Amino acid sequence: MTTEVEMSRMSWTDYAEAIATRDPAVLIPVGSVEQHGPHLPLATDCLIPEAIAKAAARRTGAIVAPTISYGYKSVPRCGGGQHFCGTTSVDAATLIGQLRDIVRELARHKVTKVSFVVGHMENLWFVTEACDLALREVKMLGLEAPRLMNVGYWEFLSKPTIEKAFDGTFPDWSLEHAGIMETSIMLHCHPELVKMERLTEHGPATLPVYDLWPYDTAQVPDTGVLNTAKGASAAKGKLFYDEYVQSFSDALVDAFGKSPSIR
Ligand code: ZN
Ligand code: MN
Repeated sequence: MTTEVEMSRMSWTDYAEAIATRDPAVLIPVGSVEQHGPHLPLATDCLIPEAIAKAAARRTGAIVAPTISYGYKSVPRCGGGQHFCGTTSVDAATLIGQLRDIVRELARHKVTKVSFVVGHMENLWFVTEACDLALREVKMLGLEAPRLMNVGYWEFLSKPTIEKAFDGTFPDWSLEHAGIMETSIMLHCHPELVKMERLTEHGPATLPVYDLWPYDTAQVPDTGVLNTAKGASAAKGKLFYDEYVQSFSDALVDAFGKSPSIR
């Protein structure tokens, strides 16, 4: 029996055996290719949920499917907007279609539990739509419908941890773009990809609560960072990461129940 948790590294026979004998949950990170300031890589929203999914899979016996790398578009008050070079987004219909197709394929494999692990806030409702459409299609095809979970990994951070790490200055998740949380986790998981010498000090961007098109790019800091990442550290990253992995693993057991796949 293989101990590999990444689907892309398993042979089809090892994967089929795991499905048939252990009934594992399949975890699918859903990220973006998006600017994250001058100090973080474009795949930040993929790398963080991937790291969390792999660690949770090692704890629970789940399998991690390849990441959906391209995500939905951002706006100034959430992600900074589409005007940055490097930000490479897909239309909602493209994202929904790809996710729906993958769920249908997993159902054909007789996977019974699937969890999307979203790393990019703008994807969340399109994942919800894909889950709804996939279940409808799977039932029409006469396949057994898997149980589906959709969660943004940041939801697993507790209030006390947020208070402690942000010292009472937490802006909110949409402004925490390329800020302290993402930068700290990247320092913990992928320090070679973080360029701390490029950080500038500034408070959270002041953006209206509404969206306008065409939008005013002058409202968005030129760096793409919506709140300074000064104060980010690998130690905070470990604190966040450990809590995410533990809470997500617990959620998998809560949602899917203890089974042979839950070690
Ligand atoms: Zn991000
Ligand atoms: Mn994002």
